[in-house]
Amino acid sequence: MITDCHIHIQPIKLFKPHALALIKGDRKNFDEIASYSDSPSAFLKYLDRCGVDRAVLINYVAPEVIGLTPEVNQFVGDYVKHDPKRLISCGGLHPRHSTNIMADVEHILRLGIRMIKIHPPHQLLFPNDYLNGVKELEIIYRAAEANGIPVMFHTGTSIFPGARNRYGDPIYVDDVAVDFPKLKIILAHGGRPLWMDTAFFLLRRHANVYLELSGIPPKRLLTYFPRLNEIAHKTMFGTDWPSPGVADVKQNFEDFKALPISEEMRAKILSGTAASIWPE
Ligand SMILES: [Zn+2]
Repeated sequence: MITDCHIHIQPIKLFKPHALALIKGDRKNFDEIASYSDSPSAFLKYLDRCGVDRAVLINYVAPEVIGLTPEVNQFVGDYVKHDPKRLISCGGLHPRHSTNIMADVEHILRLGIRMIKIHPPHQLLFPNDYLNGVKELEIIYRAAEANGIPVMFHTGTSIFPGARNRYGDPIYVDDVAVDFPKLKIILAHGGRPLWMDTAFFLLRRHANVYLELSGIPPKRLLTYFPRLNEIAHKTMFGTDWPSPGVADVKQNFEDFKALPISEEMRAKILSGTAASIWPE
């Protein structure tokens, strides 16, 4: 089961114009890409053409920077009903945009959301801000831990207008891994391009921390993570398509498959790790 652990299928109508313009770039097929947000069956055909069995559909709440509101949860909860085996929902919560965090957590659980995404540079918070009075974050992590739902953190930089990159340093996830030892924590993008060493350290330090490789050009992967073989059993592949700079899912996978790594390691990263988190 080849899984793309990081694809953005989101409600297009919520995006701020400048954020959407950055995604659109000079793509000639943007209308087709946008149409996938309304049509799971068209999107699944696209996955078929790319040779991908399953996709984790990344959503999160970031009203200030991107425009995404808590509406994203209902959207992705409904979207994956089309084919729950192939489509895996990721939703989000935001401490400053929740009036009743317990109710919002329960809503997410009712929707069957299978991962929660925290995007520090777009949500303008540190992952460990619960140590500084943001109690909502602690409630989110406790609920995810108790219900076996992983939390994915964006780590590394973001070029969206208004993103603040100091929040992207993965070192702040260290506290979360210590304080919530049964919570499955996924570091998206491995801290690229500034903090790969920190991400690698966290993977080795904490049994509950995983790595997700999207947003790193596959051809440069072994330069970014020369000791990837040591953490392959906790590493999963993703493309981050259609984020800025990610042209095509199929090409991304082909570039990864062409890397000089063992078949065993390739299988772990393309399917094994994801299967351990979201059983087939
Ligand atoms: Zn992303």
